Amino acid sequence: MTQPRLILVTGASRGIGRSAALHLARQGDVVIAIARSKLALEKLDDEIRAIGSEAVLVPMDLKDTKGIETLGKVIGEKFGRLDGLVANAGILGTLGPLETCGPRSFEETIAVNLTANFHLIRALGPWLHKSDAPRTVFVTSGVARHPRAFWGPYQAAKAGLEAMVLGWADEQENLSLRANLFNPGGTRTAMRADAMPGEDPMSIPSADDVAAELVKLVSKDETRTGQLINYREVAAAH
Ligand code: NDP
Repeated sequence: MTQPRLILVTGASRGIGRSAALHLARQGDVVIAIARSKLALEKLDDEIRAIGSEAVLVPMDLKDTKGIETLGKVIGEKFGRLDGLVANAGILGTLGPLETCGPRSFEETIAVNLTANFHLIRALGPWLHKSDAPRTVFVTSGVARHPRAFWGPYQAAKAGLEAMVLGWADEQENLSLRANLFNPGGTRTAMRADAMPGEDPMSIPSADDVAAELVKLVSKDETRTGQLINYREVAAAH
């Protein structure tokens, strides 16, 4: 019998990450679910159990870089491998003129959206390489390549994330690990409502629709690497 794939999802407490965790569970994968909100993770766990699948809950703040290091060690000891990473957690930070952005807010936005992903790569890389088909995807945003006024810290973090992940993908020569970027585009979540309060949420795709495409990037069948996959383009091609 083949073992279920073990996939770590950051930002699994709500929005796109939560939907991704549920999609993975429905296809029989074991999800390691990360977010700060313990209660929301417990609710996710109830739903995953109801599906008949399994989750490992890790309530933690991704700004805790030592915690990420420990997470890597625990995954190694408990499972000896990791098959996939959906690096989805993110924060919008402060939208507004860069000149008036508080340094702490700037640093937090970089810490969650960029630095945490470096620490995840560092801590999980050795266990991903133990998988027979390691697949990773990092969730970015259109503003990384098309920066606009008032989105300073967020777009700087996402642009850094893209450069970091594409470089990492390139380092995998002769290794089976795949690393891609996924841009969901405007998606009906709490983050989007904060960013675009005047928008009709029903005019944009649901987290569930977007997550269905996102999780394909951590399946064994995914052969691409070093690519940016835009949800809008994928949906238009269907
Ligand atoms: P949400 O705000 O709905 O969810 C964000 C998730 O990240 C939550 O589960 C949250 O959990 C987690 N998170 C935030 N900060 C931390 C932290 N310090 N430590 C651990 N977990 C954290 O956002 P979306 O679902 O909309 O966004 C998901 C991804 O998609 C993000 O990377 C975002 O930048 C990107 N994106 C979204 C778009 C959209 O329109 N929605 C458009 C383009 C990109 P908790 O608060 O419990 O810690």
